Amino acid sequence: MDNYFGPGQSGPNNADNTFHSWTPVQKALQWSYNASSAQVCNTMGPTTSYNFLVNQLHFTTLEQSDNNIAAMAVGGQTRGVTVKEMTAGFQIFGNNGKYFKPYTFYYVEDHDGNIIQDNRSESSEQVIKGTTAGIMNHILQSVVSGGTGTAAAISGWQIFGKTGTSNMGSATPDSWFIGGTPKVVAGIWSGYEQMKDISWKTEYCKQIWRSLISQYLSGQTAVPFDLDPNIVERTYCKSSGLLAGDSCTDTAIGYYDKNNLPAVCNGGSDHKGNSETSSMISSSSSSETSSKTQTSSPQSSTSPNSGSSSHEQPTSSTPSPSSEVPSSSKAPTSSLSG
Ligand SMILES: [Zn+2]
Repeated sequence: MDNYFGPGQSGPNNADNTFHSWTPVQKALQWSYNASSAQVCNTMGPTTSYNFLVNQLHFTTLEQSDNNIAAMAVGGQTRGVTVKEMTAGFQIFGNNGKYFKPYTFYYVEDHDGNIIQDNRSESSEQVIKGTTAGIMNHILQSVVSGGTGTAAAISGWQIFGKTGTSNMGSATPDSWFIGGTPKVVAGIWSGYEQMKDISWKTEYCKQIWRSLISQYLSGQTAVPFDLDPNIVERTYCKSSGLLAGDSCTDTAIGYYDKNNLPAVCNGGSDHKGNSETSSMISSSSSSETSSKTQTSSPQSSTSPNSGSSSHEQPTSSTPSPSSEVPSSSKAPTSSLSG
């Protein structure tokens, strides 16, 4: 994308620094093809993302200057996003689109047994459609089952997740992993208090997440995500993003709102595989799902200014694991890759 980072500069790079032309949404998120996120954000307009993050996900650290494609598509905000708020944002993909305000305690009693703080009756807000959340859940499971987040996989459990790293020249000062299971969602940021390269250990946040959540899930019966019943599985054509037709040969399984299915590929002019001039994303699901893509990338190059935390799904009854991280202070202009 021209002038993505400013006059004369292009970007963003995909995580593997390779051009991929037309790319299904699922593959773009699985492998952190940041150009696809930037293209979606450009199509939607960054203000759509900005307003969603502020009004629906209740991010409190964004500034008006963050309302641009770089900050909204792959991160790079002036002050960043706290790990607590980032994790709370991601839990909508495990809760059928419902947002629950994050909190630290279930309840607090004084020495006489009076409950002086009680978070147990927190109500939720439906911030995206249940079908959209469930489709994104499926897509983000591929990150952990076979993409950039495989180090977080836990045998027997469905896990959705997203990785994130920042790039400052050749250095990588931040590494993120936000992951969700049918029981709990947790987020980890790793880095130094002062910006310093951690590129030799960007796997740490995934390993920490896996270690914590493995212990949390230990002894619990693995259950699948309880996703919206309107989601259906279909075979789609990877060359067009449409449902696979009889003459389509490059196909994959995708998930859709049964009331918002794409058209069937004609096997000819619908195919975009010969494009050499564009890295535009092609939709592997409903248009609404595509529109949410950019809001799900961990915003990196940030200054996580609170301890990391996890957000319980409402059905869980045990304390949520959390991991404290140091605060840090960053320049606002780093670029990102997953
Ligand atoms: Zn086709």
